[in-house]
Amino acid sequence: MKILVANLGSTSLKYRLFEFEGTEEKLLTRGGFERVTEYPAAIDACLDELKAGGFIQNQQDLAAVGFKPVVARGVTGCVRMDEKVLQAMEDYSSMAPAHNPPYITGVRIFSQKMPQIPMIGLFETSFYQWAPEAAMRYAVPESWYKEGVRRWGFHGASHKFMAERSAELLARPDIANRVRNLYVTKTPAPVAGANLRVVSCHLGGSSSLTAILNGVGICNSLGMTPQAGLPQNNRVGDLDSFAIPFMMRRQNLSTDEVERQLCKESGLKGLSGGFNDMRDIRAQALGNNPHAQLAIDVFVWQARHWLGAYYLEMNGLDGLVFTAGIAENNPWLREQICRNLDHLGIKIDPIKNNQAIGIEALISTDDSQVKIYVIPTNEELVVAREVKRFLENH
Ligand code: ADP
Repeated sequence: MKILVANLGSTSLKYRLFEFEGTEEKLLTRGGFERVTEYPAAIDACLDELKAGGFIQNQQDLAAVGFKPVVARGVTGCVRMDEKVLQAMEDYSSMAPAHNPPYITGVRIFSQKMPQIPMIGLFETSFYQWAPEAAMRYAVPESWYKEGVRRWGFHGASHKFMAERSAELLARPDIANRVRNLYVTKTPAPVAGANLRVVSCHLGGSSSLTAILNGVGICNSLGMTPQAGLPQNNRVGDLDSFAIPFMMRRQNLSTDEVERQLCKESGLKGLSGGFNDMRDIRAQALGNNPHAQLAIDVFVWQARHWLGAYYLEMNGLDGLVFTAGIAENNPWLREQICRNLDHLGIKIDPIKNNQAIGIEALISTDDSQVKIYVIPTNEELVVAREVKRFLENH
């Protein structure tokens, strides 16, 4: 079974082609196009590349095209991307203005170009379908809540991958299996035995922590939009909502200008004085740039804040996992997040930690109660796996 996973940006199309055979899963090829102005032409070019490489003979060789859409009104999980779903995404376009519009356009064009091929989407909000309401609600009037002002949670594909893999590594095949079938059964299977408590730290271009209880996401530091929790590369993290009317009045800023500054001039870039890549921020901090050091300190503080909250909520922790560009490649940052937590049973091993760069590894000491892992994420593979499960069950 061959599944094409398409990542749609406003001017880019990236793709990966996976093949599943029995228990084997293989990445056959990957590619992409930047500065796309004509989406239909880019889709043709993608299919041409797949044919030229001998990966498919024609589009009928594809069992499905998979997508990773962000958010839609009243829709989540792994679903067929029909017109009803696309309209539900349109309804929330202003919640994810950089993401929803290109996805809606892209999926429509894919459907026109490939009418026989199922278009399947795995929503980023899917992993939080069973989160307790108290964890997801903001204290706003009911009318705001009805419009969608609540915590949704994102990075669902990545955190689900972490849930499944950490359960395997922590010798809980029952939980790994529960995770695998979450979107198929729609109701998480009952759990026998002790709770499995994991915190997943996805730290990259955008960052979030998720509490995972028995394989199910029960809270995520991203909120109603992907502009909450930790400082993101250019986007603000948590912010007191009253800062917005205050600054609008103070500097006579328009709504668009506030949105621009919070999306493009904030986060690590705002704090560090212009650097949005952790490699540059680290180099600047080592060169005694105090703003860059502050950006790192705020990032670490925020990560520990959520880690502490989730530790408390789950009454302890069995696994702490690190993933995505920043967390996979920067041992010094993992060490800072885990510093001084031995009284909570979290002990990082400096040697193992320093050796784990971009690879899966156990990085806690032998006597650490909490097992700490680096687990490289693979969001496209998660999408492909879920699409495969969807096809097998529908
Ligand atoms: P995205 O969310 O855009 O997919 P990534 O998960 O790739 O982003 O994370 C991007 C971040 O990861 C950047 O801040 C970058 O500094 C950091 N990063 C990526 N690769 C490395 C590396 N080899 N060494 C250090 N930091 C890295």
